[in-house]
Amino acid sequence: MSIGSLLILPGDGIGPEVMAEVKRIIDWFGEKRDLTFDVSEDLVGGAAYDAHGTPLHDDTMAKAQEVDAVLLGAVGGPKYDVLDFSVKPERGLLRLRKEMDLFSNLRPAQCFDALADFSSLKRDVIAGLDIMIVRELTSGVYFGEPRGIFTENNERVGINTQRYTESEIDRVARSAFELAMKRGKRLCSMEKANVMESGILWREVVTEVAKDYPEVELSHMYADAGGMQLARWPKQFDVIVTDNLFGDLLSDVAAMLTGSLGMLPSASLGLPMANGRPKALYEPVHGSAPDIAGQGKANPIACILSFSMALRYSFDLGAEADRLEKAIEDVLADGVRTADLLGQEGVTPVSTSGMGDAILAKLDASL
Ligand code: NAD
Repeated sequence: MSIGSLLILPGDGIGPEVMAEVKRIIDWFGEKRDLTFDVSEDLVGGAAYDAHGTPLHDDTMAKAQEVDAVLLGAVGGPKYDVLDFSVKPERGLLRLRKEMDLFSNLRPAQCFDALADFSSLKRDVIAGLDIMIVRELTSGVYFGEPRGIFTENNERVGINTQRYTESEIDRVARSAFELAMKRGKRLCSMEKANVMESGILWREVVTEVAKDYPEVELSHMYADAGGMQLARWPKQFDVIVTDNLFGDLLSDVAAMLTGSLGMLPSASLGLPMANGRPKALYEPVHGSAPDIAGQGKANPIACILSFSMALRYSFDLGAEADRLEKAIEDVLADGVRTADLLGQEGVTPVSTSGMGDAILAKLDASL
């Protein structure tokens, strides 16, 4: 029986290369764990432009709205830099995010022991770190009106407006509480209620939503103090929920605590569908890496970890996500490295598929 439906959009550059390894892992779960997915594949970004003259065909958009989860590789590349803004590869991704109304952006910061020395922080501060930042993605100061550059009293003034409605805060808070329930049941909400009215409302609404999640321990922190605490002792957190602007900053800081771009997955979630699963798009944080595309050098782990997030957050297969993450941890502990993870002398990097082979072997060993 199928566990659910997956739409795979490999995209451009290294997207298809890293996604090829994810597809082998999806097949492994079907063959060895009897967990099959109803998988379809389509084009996005430059690949879709080449085929259809648009970075996202309407049929692909319609499919994305129906499936349980979309898994995307990466889009873009120098070949498409000359295109008009309206058909640039990135527009395909933006259309997906907008039309699926993906308001909850999940950025984990997870540190595998074997890579702890990659961090700019001390090993004991970072080793074993596993936190999740939930950033509100479709409102706040990046969208609020009025905005623009105006002239007042003979000088220019730049204006952006931080604006949140109760329902916008409520839905992202619920998304974060749901995540906390699937993790360590601790949620820290960050805003600046000391100086911003939108922060006061944020705190009130999150506190109200908490009544529906009595098992989750809720705390509040001013976002600037939160930034300090992330750098000081990040392991104190489990899930953090914050607005669009603070989330932009804090998630980048937290992610880079742990090292390479080739290791960072993400998810963007929307409202629950009729079957209770949220609309969902999973993708690595990295881009299409044109400098290494087609050379078999790309690290597939960010994309594989994105699939692991789909197992956990779309399909409620937390134990299988743990199995996959443990396989990755074991591979790294054995010293297997793609070129982007090389730090030590004398280690020969494996190729993209070599990393896939090693992870599959560890999955086999986990049975
Ligand atoms: P990038 O993330 O593609 O690459 C930055 C650097 O990191 C490069 O040196 C690259 O080789 C390396 N890198 C990235 N992913 C890697 C991986 N998995 N394994 C090993 N090394 C990896 O960012 P960029 O160079 O600024 O952008 C390249 C293209 O990607 C542009 O067209 C940009 O618009 C697009 N882009 C797309 C997305 C997306 O699809 N979500 C995100 C960012 C950039």
